[in-house]
Amino acid sequence: MKIICIGRNYANHARELGNQIPDDPVVFCKPDSSILQPRNPFVIPPWSQEIHHEIEFLVRIGRVGKYIDQKHALSYIDAITVGIDFTARDLQNELKEKGFPWEKSKGFDGSAVIGKWILGNPKKNKNYQITLLKNKVIAQNGNTSQFIFSMEEIISHVSKFFTLKKGDIIFTGTPSGVGPITAGDQLEGRLDGESLLSLNIR
Ligand code: ZN
Repeated sequence: MKIICIGRNYANHARELGNQIPDDPVVFCKPDSSILQPRNPFVIPPWSQEIHHEIEFLVRIGRVGKYIDQKHALSYIDAITVGIDFTARDLQNELKEKGFPWEKSKGFDGSAVIGKWILGNPKKNKNYQITLLKNKVIAQNGNTSQFIFSMEEIISHVSKFFTLKKGDIIFTGTPSGVGPITAGDQLEGRLDGESLLSLNIR
């Protein structure tokens, strides 16, 4: 399986990092080794001083597809949840400055946190609220209605380049409010108010 991530899909987050609103979805991948195993804490790697949380809406692909038409895109999804795209912001900035790929800052071990899946494909025009609580205080709050690129556009665009396969996961981008984590923090992710992930930072 593969993990495909969309960057800058909320205007308010693109702005907070000083990035331009993209014309096409910004796409990158995480390897399967980046998945944090359930019930494990996230351990801050020794080579970064600035790991940021990014809460995101996640979709799981239920069947193989290539050049998927937007009007059929939602039928390729078999489950949804929330997840965290942990990002080593210091390393990412360094790599971006040099014009290098930013995989190391985004795809390192444990950087992909995946909540409990809710089975079924999303209804057309239904929007979802995603929330991240840090130490029981809301740190990020977003709604899929704020997407720059809709779920249909993302799936159609991504499938032009990568054949989507059963079990692939798409991280759809983070809203504003990203920020650093420190050892001892406790994070909780919610989808429409339902708690689907919680983890401790070590
Ligand atoms: Zn992200």
